[in-house]
Amino acid sequence: MIYETELFVSPEEAESEEAVKTIASQKLSIQKKSITFLRILKRSVDARAKTVRLNLRIRVYVGEIPTPVIHTKLLPDVSSAKPILIVGAGPAGLFAALRIASLGWKPVLLERGKDVRNRRFDLAAINKDQLVDPDSNYCFGEGGAGTYSDGKLYTRSTKRGDVNSVLETFVAHGASEDILVDAHPHIGTNKLPQIIISIRESLLQAGAEIHFQCRVKSLLVTNNKINGVVADAVDGEKTFLSGQVILATGHSARDIFEMLHRQQIRLEAKPFAMGVRIEHPQVLIDSIQYHCRPEEVGKLREHLPAASYSQVHQSNGRGVYSFCMCPGGIIAPCATGPEQVVTNGWSPSKRNNPFSNSGIVVSIEPEDYAHYSADGPLAGLRYQQALEKMAYVAGGKSQRAPAQRLVDFIEEKLSTDLPKTSYQPGIVSAPLHTILPPEISKRLQDGLKAFGTKMKGYYTNEAVLHGVESRTSSPVRIPRDKDTLEHVEVSGLYPCAEGAGYAGGIVSAAIDGQNCAEAAVSKAKLKL
Ligand SMILES: Cc1cc2nc3c(=O)[nH]c(=O)nc-3n(C[C@H](O)[C@H](O)[C@H](O)COP(=O)(O)OP(=O)(O)OC[C@H]3O[C@@H](n4cnc5c(N)ncnc54)[C@H](O)[C@@H]3O)c2cc1C
Repeated sequence: MIYETELFVSPEEAESEEAVKTIASQKLSIQKKSITFLRILKRSVDARAKTVRLNLRIRVYVGEIPTPVIHTKLLPDVSSAKPILIVGAGPAGLFAALRIASLGWKPVLLERGKDVRNRRFDLAAINKDQLVDPDSNYCFGEGGAGTYSDGKLYTRSTKRGDVNSVLETFVAHGASEDILVDAHPHIGTNKLPQIIISIRESLLQAGAEIHFQCRVKSLLVTNNKINGVVADAVDGEKTFLSGQVILATGHSARDIFEMLHRQQIRLEAKPFAMGVRIEHPQVLIDSIQYHCRPEEVGKLREHLPAASYSQVHQSNGRGVYSFCMCPGGIIAPCATGPEQVVTNGWSPSKRNNPFSNSGIVVSIEPEDYAHYSADGPLAGLRYQQALEKMAYVAGGKSQRAPAQRLVDFIEEKLSTDLPKTSYQPGIVSAPLHTILPPEISKRLQDGLKAFGTKMKGYYTNEAVLHGVESRTSSPVRIPRDKDTLEHVEVSGLYPCAEGAGYAGGIVSAAIDGQNCAEAAVSKAKLKL
């Protein structure tokens, strides 16, 4: 007999299988000793009431044992199959490659950055020496922008099957099975690189090709059909041929947008969002979200995760919202080129750093960047570049970020001093309220005040704003046909995931990668 039920339990009870069995047996009116197996299907923290509880959806087996679930990563041998090119080894590119191989075709992955281990040295150079390698940084390199992140795996995608297939692939490559159960799963920066290596090994074992330090610089297009790409590799210029090219280069690959524009391949400007990254002491966020005094947080956190938040406010017709919140995290320097300061955040799997950070951003619409209209589809990109340069100048022309205490920002005063920050290149006091254009700063002020009324204690001068959070989503769309997923004008070219404007975040990028892979394989089969 199998039962499914929902339980509300204390954080301590949730950690003990015996306690959960006792509560389940009482709820189902069955004998505890008759329970032969218990599986947690979903787990979420419910912090709405004063006492924090965990909500568990469980499956209880009586007199039977379920068949073990095996997360398989077996791929067929595709070493002599026909190639399909994928540009970019971020979540989209990697999941496209896995799907192409599973369908019996040979993925050829071209990635401008280094493999995940060698990439680490370039991250250290940004943090310690203020040096940004334009091909290997927090956004570029094996695993893409998602590698050194919080590894949050939430998505707005409603297709459960697609989401599960991505999560199960992560588990098959070494992620904890908890991600299949938690309502807000995350992996953590310390665990992601090993998972990416395991995905690479699966691909190589199947016979896929992976070329690191191989930057694509032009597309070979004749009569509106793609035939391949030209790339700069370590050993010189190389041409890769295929009638199917998945372009999964992410939203920071500005040279790719410039390349497409130069090659007269249609692009469109699209709305995006920009703002700042705010940092609070984690203990403060825990005490707000778990309704306790800061001195009580330590005890509670023995059984509860670092608390997170999600806030949204409408200001003068635009959304102001928290973005990519990292509890127990670190603010990361995410510039990808010279004269830029860009922030984002990551957390280790335990989320045990003393700070909490989150992007706080304002939606940006074409009227904001009308002064760049001469740049056509790249107008939003120019606006984004200008703000990143302003942050670079205000931070003293290095990777140091301009920063201001929260209350000072709202009261429009320069901060006379700044508290400790997790942002390793360092921060410089600067008047962000005047550096940011009014369409952003005024709305941020409005939104942050509103967040302070909803979360008592959030509005404090202990919190510091770091500028600028500019890479939330792509300012450019590479338009594609909604059925074939091919570019609207270039057959065989598949604009994919975040850079093309069709995904936001690791899971949705991975799903879009899988979808583009299927579309590319269907088209390739027609040509056989
Ligand atoms: C610090 C940080 C933290 C984040 N945290 C989270 C999180 O917790 N959860 C979440 O869901 N999302 C998070 N994100 C966002 C997430 O990483 C992206 O949404 C996701 O990686 C997009 O996937 P993608 O494959 O479309 O593009 P990307 O991950 O950007 O990958 C694109 C790849 O293409 C390569 N490339 C670019 N140009 C070329 C070229 N010319 N030739 C060859 N290769 C090229 C790049 O080097 C890169 O590896 C975070 C991002 C950052 C930077």
